[in-house]
Amino acid sequence: MTSPGVAGPADAPDNSMTFAALNAVHAGAKPLHSAAATLGLGVPVEHTHRTIIEPFRIRAVEPLGITTRAEREVALERASFNPFALHADEVLIDLLTDSGTGAMSAAQWAAIMIGDESYAGSRSFYRLESVVRELTGIRHVIPTHQGRAAEHILFSALLKPGNVVPANAHFDTTRANVEFLGAIAVDLLRDEAMDPQADLPFKGDVDVVKLREVLVRERGNVPCVMVTITNNRGGGQPVSMGNLKAVRALCDEFGVPMFLDAARFAENSWLIKMREPGQGARTATEIAHETFRLADGFTISAKKDGLVNIGGLLGINNDALADLCRTRLILTEGFPTYGGLAGRDLEALAQGLKEVLDEDYLHYRHASVRYVFDRLDAMGVPMMRPPGGHAVYLDGGAFAAHLPKSQFPGLSLTNALYLEGGVRGVEVGSLMFGKPATGTEPEEFATLELVRLTFPRRTYTQSHMDYLVEVVAHVWENRASLPGYRIVEQRPVLRAFTAKMAPIA
Ligand SMILES: *Cc1c(COP(=O)(O)O)cnc(C)c1O
Repeated sequence: MTSPGVAGPADAPDNSMTFAALNAVHAGAKPLHSAAATLGLGVPVEHTHRTIIEPFRIRAVEPLGITTRAEREVALERASFNPFALHADEVLIDLLTDSGTGAMSAAQWAAIMIGDESYAGSRSFYRLESVVRELTGIRHVIPTHQGRAAEHILFSALLKPGNVVPANAHFDTTRANVEFLGAIAVDLLRDEAMDPQADLPFKGDVDVVKLREVLVRERGNVPCVMVTITNNRGGGQPVSMGNLKAVRALCDEFGVPMFLDAARFAENSWLIKMREPGQGARTATEIAHETFRLADGFTISAKKDGLVNIGGLLGINNDALADLCRTRLILTEGFPTYGGLAGRDLEALAQGLKEVLDEDYLHYRHASVRYVFDRLDAMGVPMMRPPGGHAVYLDGGAFAAHLPKSQFPGLSLTNALYLEGGVRGVEVGSLMFGKPATGTEPEEFATLELVRLTFPRRTYTQSHMDYLVEVVAHVWENRASLPGYRIVEQRPVLRAFTAKMAPIA
């Protein structure tokens, strides 16, 4: 399982000289350790080999659902050709989401055994609080059952109808919570970041010119600015440290608090280290510390970089706002020292937040995403560029160029990946974002017909990734036979999750 260079020049522009030198060493197949040491690299020597090493060994295993093609055909038909309706046991490699789907470490399972289940004042809460305070520097730490609960509690204390909440890009639940309270969610990515082919390092950056315009126009009507790190909507596109500082400066100028939607703070920190000039010599932990200290608070879905299967966090510096939020928390989540979680969950999260900044882990995680992207790219498979921190997006519209949008090319590709190899991705195209025709309005379609392959944390190995590449390659070669689909049954909202579909003969 040797693979092409894992942390290639594309990822580390400020290290390109040393990587070039390293590649020469690789080509000569000499032992690397002394050579790397004399090159004075900023990366540990063990990162210089080509093969991606999962930085863990596995002592608890879970069998995969290995099925035949005939069995998958039956399963997909039973699921009305919507992969959301498959039983997970019928899926071999499940890349539906990276949310809550990762593996916990032995240390996290051990921590679970010492969870303190006291209703009030649990020892596990104080441990979590001290870990989060050290990580973020934020004073008030409020646990919630997951990210959207933190969002709802924060926004219900902060927003009034008609308020405007600017962000680089709101995550779906963040936008929904803003709009539920009658406020307006405004996305302010730079125009170049909307181009799926623009290979830019920080496509998650806030457009600070547009942000200034909004802050001027809506003076007094903006209760907070949100920055989503990484930008989930683009598959984990990072926000640079330079941009975070520029947003902070604007927030100071206009007297508006800055909040982070920090579900993937560790991946963002790693991509800053890899991609931003001047940041390469810092540790991911130092970068994460600085990131959080720029903000006045945060919401976190701990199901991502918390390395747990359930959990969320709300962090706030302002005492009065924290007080309001705790009152609301008691109404919907529970007492402020457990907030909808068991004591053992708080322990696992405290441990996960420490492990996620381990650079061997971060290196491996990003290298795995990059590896899949680079191998598919070398075969000419069309994808969104560059790959972000947690997902690769296939361009279903280019795979099924013979299908009109009305026949859901993204779903066609998603289903073909399942039938071919038991791989479950998710359509993010016209089934997810389009709308059916109404009496007065025509049918609406998404701009792009993408299929997201999202990588659960610490769950699959490089041979699983090799298998995935093989499956995608096979579907790519046979793309001319991808069938169109039609909707048999749909709900008026969030139709992608429940729609019943049928292939068009
Ligand atoms: C997952 C996610 C959320 C919502 O969190 P849940 O834990 O699913 O409720 C919010 N923002 C971002 C960026 C996310 O990725």
